[in-house]
Amino acid sequence: MSRDTARAATQFFGGRICLDFANTVDWRTSGAPQELIPDYAAFLSWSERRGTLLPRAAAALRRLGKQEDVAAARVLREAYALRAAIWSAAEALRGAGTADLAAFNRMLATLPAQPRLVGHGARFAYDLRGRDLREPLWPVLWSLTAVLTSEDADRVGCCRAEGCGWLFVDESPNRTRLWCSSAVCGNRERARRAYSKRRAGR
Ligand SMILES: [Zn+2]
Repeated sequence: MSRDTARAATQFFGGRICLDFANTVDWRTSGAPQELIPDYAAFLSWSERRGTLLPRAAAALRRLGKQEDVAAARVLREAYALRAAIWSAAEALRGAGTADLAAFNRMLATLPAQPRLVGHGARFAYDLRGRDLREPLWPVLWSLTAVLTSEDADRVGCCRAEGCGWLFVDESPNRTRLWCSSAVCGNRERARRAYSKRRAGR
């Protein structure tokens, strides 16, 4: 368990917003999962790094979240529930269990219309204004509906490294992607396997 949480919170290997959001628990399938968004402020920082909230909106929500801490805590619980629902949807897509559509549909029912886009560097961003504490949830839900209703759904994979549990869209031509990141989990697993081979050969 060497991946440090500050670094893990800046690693976006999922390829889609909703999967990167699902990856905000490090070592998800291990005996010692690590929470990467422990509070509402951390959820905002994650959204800002992932580009789903502009700095101005994140700053406004940070102030609002401090004033309305009970409501902010409620949004965080909602975020955790959404994340768990994404994990089970990914399992279902990969052939195990069933997705909880009722949970998604309840959340979709509360979604506003998508806002207009604004230029952001070389790309574009949602023009969210930082007025509603639930704003960081919305881009995750918009991304989720896009993944579930597109060919991405056939390509959702899970890292093979023991205990990692990070999800991604496998865009390799033959769908042979094994790791969330070849440089992180891939290297560690290769080292681990070489080590046990050496031990076995002794
Ligand atoms: Zn991994």
